Amino acid sequence: MKTSIATVSISGDFREKLAAIAKAGFDGIEIFENDFLAFEGSPAEVGAMVREHGLEITLFQPFRDFEGLPEPQRSRAFERAERKFDLMGELGADLILVCSSVSPLALGGIDRAAADFRALGERAARRGIRVGYEALAWGRHISDHRDAWEIVRRADLPNVGVILDSFHTLARGVDVETIRAIPGDRIFIVQLADAPKIDMDLLHWSRHYRNMPGEGDLDVTGFMRAVAATGYDGPLSLEIFNDQFRGGSPRAIALDGRRSLLALIDDVAQKEPGVALTPPPMPPRVAAKGFAFAEFAVNDAEAGELGAMLHALGFSRSGRHIAKDVDLWRQGEARIVVNTESEGFAHSSHLVHGMGVCDLGLMVDDAAATVARARALLAEPFDQPVGPGEMKIPAIRGVGGGVLHFIDEASGLSGVWDAEFRPVADDTAPVSAGITRIDHVAQTMNHEDMLTWLLFYTAIFDTRKTPTVDVVDPAGLVRSQAVENRDGSLRLTLNGADNRRTLAGHFISERFGSAVQHIAFACNDIFVASAALKANGFLPLDISPNYYDDLDARFGLEEHFLNRLRDCRILYDRDDAGEYFQIYGPVVGEGFFFEIVERRGDYKGYGAPNALFRIAAQKRLLAPKGLPRR
Ligand code: MG
Ligand code: MG
Repeated sequence: MKTSIATVSISGDFREKLAAIAKAGFDGIEIFENDFLAFEGSPAEVGAMVREHGLEITLFQPFRDFEGLPEPQRSRAFERAERKFDLMGELGADLILVCSSVSPLALGGIDRAAADFRALGERAARRGIRVGYEALAWGRHISDHRDAWEIVRRADLPNVGVILDSFHTLARGVDVETIRAIPGDRIFIVQLADAPKIDMDLLHWSRHYRNMPGEGDLDVTGFMRAVAATGYDGPLSLEIFNDQFRGGSPRAIALDGRRSLLALIDDVAQKEPGVALTPPPMPPRVAAKGFAFAEFAVNDAEAGELGAMLHALGFSRSGRHIAKDVDLWRQGEARIVVNTESEGFAHSSHLVHGMGVCDLGLMVDDAAATVARARALLAEPFDQPVGPGEMKIPAIRGVGGGVLHFIDEASGLSGVWDAEFRPVADDTAPVSAGITRIDHVAQTMNHEDMLTWLLFYTAIFDTRKTPTVDVVDPAGLVRSQAVENRDGSLRLTLNGADNRRTLAGHFISERFGSAVQHIAFACNDIFVASAALKANGFLPLDISPNYYDDLDARFGLEEHFLNRLRDCRILYDRDDAGEYFQIYGPVVGEGFFFEIVERRGDYKGYGAPNALFRIAAQKRLLAPKGLPRR
């Protein structure tokens, strides 16, 4: 199945767009008239350039306000069409998109429109051009693909067909099952876009908020299943208008687009057996079973600080790598790897980004299959030489340049800790805080890159995304969204920063790129953890007394309980399913921190209402180094 993308979907000048689209592996582009109005070359040169990139022009658009016009506007519309056909001839395009009219002059009537399309189709046929009719969700008379199809059916010409666009159908809530009644060879192209559910004017929603399939809330898979069932085997074309994308790199957006299509085709082929879709062979979505480890790249001095912090959190240094300057710290199933090597990936990460998490390990059922799926979805492989006695652990590059390793039991990879680490006796044995595992890992990125991360995780792993939560930093907004699996063993929070004055924005600008900003450990009893931390000399983040007054106002807590929270500097939240307790550690470096959490009942969130108080406290600590408090 051919993949295509509208040039308007990505940023950059026309050359950059073509290069990015070709590099991502698309077969073709939809070209917009504006593309060459802004480009110095002639239409013929534009067409040649497209083909030089190994791309075909799948569609020329748009041709607006055509059908249903009275005279003399009707004749003029046909003259306009002839000029577009001239242009298409020079360009080398054979399919034109006619979108349903929004003109106040347009008259209704299916037969009137069908007659117009029959006349247009006859003119187009002389030039070898096909005409596709698309129902805009806000069209004056035609706003539903069923009506567009009926007009096409009555026009009754082989070169007049219907164009389906998932946004227009799904945004209006038209039943996608009705698509199954359209013969596949009468669908000339299928345009795909998703969008977040926002209650707003359809036109504005479409022009500014569309995103890649899988990035939004519309049932693009259900739409595509119905399309596939018709036997349609033409191009799948992304037509995305999105303000967030305009700040992103053309390469990254094009890659996201192709990834979203591959994941969608795979989903449809799984759910709609027998359809003529040929997805690239890939294993099913990966059921991750939690974090196997988090690895920090540090220098010797930072290793000392980090070790002291881990010790205070109740971790023991339990192993030393057989050949490398790498320590393993462990508590329960939470493992922190501290890497001070002067070569290899961790070292280069340290050179570029400074101290921080360079590598995350995930537990999966089948590590090799995980990498195979990720590769099929265009993730970059990661490899580095393996020394004697070391295990080859499958890995890929994450979105921000970090590495993801995959560990399974089936192929024995979970034995890596015994195989590669010699036990060490930690004679400073700290009091255990009862930490059981990593609860969540929070990654921070620029807001415009957030959807890229989201798509990466949801396409490869069997996860769902939570609704976006706005976290208020006094200096600006941080948008937070979680990706999690069904049993909560994998939880990643993605935080998109709008500007560098926010704590999150400061962190990514100081680290030269997106990164893990905090790791939260799970414990079974926050008060036991608090006492252990105290005994180990851990200094929790100092939370403003106002917080506890606010908490009391919000929840009406029992006085004794509230005092206990205050004394232990524990933050608290609650939803209809359970309770959440948090202790924050101090800020390390430019904004990294640890957190200990306890979930009681089936609490779903991440303590978002508390983030404002956490950020204020952390900024007080960072302020002397120049981070503005407001
Ligand atoms: Mg469209
Ligand atoms: Mg957190």
